[in-house]
Amino acid sequence: MTKRALITGITGQDGSYLADLLLEKGYKVFGLRRRTSVPIMENIQHIVNEVEFIDGDLTDLSSLIHAVKVANPDEVYNLAAQSFVGTSWDQPILTGQVTALSVTNMLEALRIVKPTARYYQASSSEMFGKVVETPQKETTPFYPRSPYGVAKVYGHWMTVNYRESYNMFACSGILFNHESPRRGIEFVTRKITDAVVKIKCGLQHELRLGNLDALRDWGYAKDYVECMWLMLQQDRPDDYVIATGETHSVREFCEIAFSHVGLDYTNYVVTDPKFFRAAEVDLLLGDPAKAINNLGWNPQKTTFKQLVHLMVDSDMEKAKRVSY
Ligand code: GDP
Repeated sequence: MTKRALITGITGQDGSYLADLLLEKGYKVFGLRRRTSVPIMENIQHIVNEVEFIDGDLTDLSSLIHAVKVANPDEVYNLAAQSFVGTSWDQPILTGQVTALSVTNMLEALRIVKPTARYYQASSSEMFGKVVETPQKETTPFYPRSPYGVAKVYGHWMTVNYRESYNMFACSGILFNHESPRRGIEFVTRKITDAVVKIKCGLQHELRLGNLDALRDWGYAKDYVECMWLMLQQDRPDDYVIATGETHSVREFCEIAFSHVGLDYTNYVVTDPKFFRAAEVDLLLGDPAKAINNLGWNPQKTTFKQLVHLMVDSDMEKAKRVSY
């Protein structure tokens, strides 16, 4: 029988890769779509006719109940959020409403309409924030350092709570930073690869960044969505850290990205206080041992260098298409 999946955040980086994966696996895919004046379809243009869209908003419980009734899903992937850490200081209440409280809306919609559906919650390494131990694993205490991180901690614990309270098959994936050509331009990785290409083409002359010494455990989003799916195929629901187990600095990312097109980043990168965070997460390094053992996850499928290169190459291809 064809499996049915409902994805929130389907137009985003992870939602679009997950939709690709589930369609490949023969799922009937439903995507929750929030109304915007201009549709944001860039990431899913290629599958727009294969996905069934349901209009709704995470902050509106009645629209979620409707979506669950229409989709009648076997699996629900809750990926929608106000997902940018920097914005969460400018819009802390909205971040709380969308990134935190909406998780309860989604869980309630499932509990009321389809409590047997399997549920995936997109949790985040930002929950570890001012890290209490290194590397961070499933048992590491949380110490979030942004309104975004605080909101994600709420969503994580609600997921655990619905599992324990109602015996629902609810899983929380604690994903460390994961990037790709579909990453939003405001995130540092894509901001760098986009600038590298523009500088190479003579369209931009410098790249203004914040903290170059921040360390992140960066993986490839396309590899990470496989783990989301794997979590929901297990015999019992659980929480997993998904990470590469390697950490690199923003500076290192710059070095590799610029040198890929024959440039030296020190000639172009300028530090700008505007891009520093009110409270920084200095170091993230995940321990993916549980995912390796239980899910058969291979954290080194795409190396850091390959990731940087494929992002630069993709931005270069896009630039060429635009200029033809
Ligand atoms: P995050 O880990 O979810 O906050 O992902 P980001 O890609 O937004 O930021 C990763 C790290 O890069 C953080 O420690 C930022 O402080 C640092 N960073 C340095 N310069 C910049 C910048 O210009 N933009 C962004 N977004 N982050 C920057």
